[in-house]
Amino acid sequence: MGENVNPLADLRYAAAVPRIPEHAAAPNGHLADRLGRPLRDLRISVTDRCNFRCTYCMPKEVFDRDYRFLPHKSLLTFEEIARVARLFVLHGVHKLRLTGGEPLLRKDVEALIAQLAALRTVEGGRLDIALTTNGSLLERKARALRDAGLERVTVSLDALDEAVFQRMNDVGFAAADVLRGIDAALSAGMRRVKLNMVVKRGTNDQEIVPLARHVRERYGALAVLRFIEYMDVGATNGWRMDEVLPSAEVRARLAAAFALEPLARTAAGETAERWRYVDGGGEVGFISSVTRAFCRDCNRARLSTEGKLFLCLFADHGHDLRALLRGGASDEQIAAAIGLVWREREDRYSELRAAMPTGGNGSDGSARKIEMHYIGG
Ligand code: SAM
Ligand code: SF4
Ligand code: SF4
Repeated sequence: MGENVNPLADLRYAAAVPRIPEHAAAPNGHLADRLGRPLRDLRISVTDRCNFRCTYCMPKEVFDRDYRFLPHKSLLTFEEIARVARLFVLHGVHKLRLTGGEPLLRKDVEALIAQLAALRTVEGGRLDIALTTNGSLLERKARALRDAGLERVTVSLDALDEAVFQRMNDVGFAAADVLRGIDAALSAGMRRVKLNMVVKRGTNDQEIVPLARHVRERYGALAVLRFIEYMDVGATNGWRMDEVLPSAEVRARLAAAFALEPLARTAAGETAERWRYVDGGGEVGFISSVTRAFCRDCNRARLSTEGKLFLCLFADHGHDLRALLRGGASDEQIAAAIGLVWREREDRYSELRAAMPTGGNGSDGSARKIEMHYIGG
């Protein structure tokens, strides 16, 4: 295998082994960080690999055939993921989301879903398990995922127009195949499917109304399309503020085609602003990570494929839980270490971004930010 010569592709993020406090109380579900935010949501990346090369996430020029993905032995096993997920649930996590890379590329991922579904009894039935996917393998896998206990999927789809979509995924994958995956998820009995569209000005913004129309007409209330502002994650996508189409503008374009009215927030920490079509055609969401930071309510932690815990999507270092898992620490010790890490958390990158000299694109010499495909969306 060739050595990787592209410096942008060197993704060895710093991660310290977390300290195990000596006298920690057992987790009681009421952990709060320095800004008073609880821990409610854990995103678990199950692979750093992907069969797409979305230009805003894994540009081909960087993630080429010489790129070295994580070796299999460094990935957390399903047993390790389930062990650590249980400790998070004890700390108050209500929601687990599998992501990646492309999570459906991880072999037998449904076996992991089944192990995680068993944690519902630990939490008393409130644990929500979801998965974010590019949809390419969904048609084939939806039934097995549902049978294993998965109730919800989020499918990314950036355009209905084949040329636009294929340019964005950069591997020529057809939008029609993703749509078939969504149909399969619904026929398998998944609850309301969410669709994520990352909007890039000048690339796919002309697709906002056609995609919304299609989703309304085909799925009605069974699917919710969410528009995501293009974010400055990682250091490889060449992010520029002028390619961000603010949610307010997306909403204005949509409102010119369909009458909309706002909906109340259903849960603290919810990232999307929810609106509905006045004529009853369903719901849409706007995720304004750039123009309207929601750090104040951010109750989310992220576990990387190799077991590093990150407290923010824009963190430049993690906490190496795998070292504890494989180093003989007990569940009590690992839970105590997680508790300490969360109590010390004060991340609020999006709130601070506005004050950064370069708008946060990393070119100000700040430490390397984590790539989205590594940490998961
Ligand atoms: N491969 C799966 C997928 O695409 O759904 C899961 C992982 S992907 C990293 C998770 C989500 O992050 C996707 O909805 C994707 O569109 C979004 N995403 C990736 N890069 C982004 C960026 N620069 N700005 C905003 N969203 C991004
Ligand atoms: Fe792959 Fe998802 Fe990133 Fe696209 S957004 S390259 S599908 S991980
Ligand atoms: Fe949470 Fe960090 Fe995003 Fe703020 S920037 S909402 S703290 S992940």
